[in-house]
Amino acid sequence: MTNRTFAIIKPDAVKNNNTGLIFDHILKAGFNVLSARLIKMTLAQAEGFYGVHAERPFFGELTEFMSSGQCMVLALEKDNAVPAWRETIGATNPEEAAEGTIRRLFATSIGENAVHGSDSDENAQKEIAFFFPDTELIANN
Ligand code: ADP
Ligand code: MG
Repeated sequence: MTNRTFAIIKPDAVKNNNTGLIFDHILKAGFNVLSARLIKMTLAQAEGFYGVHAERPFFGELTEFMSSGQCMVLALEKDNAVPAWRETIGATNPEEAAEGTIRRLFATSIGENAVHGSDSDENAQKEIAFFFPDTELIANN
């Protein structure tokens, strides 16, 4: 499973009409999109997805933001997908994100930072399964 990761185009990016540009960035960076879906998370879904952050001071802000509007969830495939996608999106805080990364280009703040990326193979597998049944993951080669 080391060739898969999970991504979200977050509500700020969808609202700002950056979905297409970010999708294009994903393809140009060499990822295969195994599945993608536009959803609006419930607060309970956002709380479940970000459960590891439940004790963090920004948990309420984060889960309200993530359930505030449409977002796009994606299962991505590439060699070493988890680190490759983290490199493509850049640091959590857009001010610290490298030039040319998605967060540098599209994020507006540390909270509203345009995209999500899994932080480990184990979490990638869990996060993909949170939103996609195996039957919806379609190899594109
Ligand atoms: P990442 O998304 O880069 O893996 P974290 O897992 O640490 O970052 O945090 C999850 C999400 O919580 C971040 O992407 C961001 O939306 C939000 N977040 C993180 N730190 C803060 C903060 N200090 N203030 C507000 N929101 C934050
Ligand atoms: Mg994280």
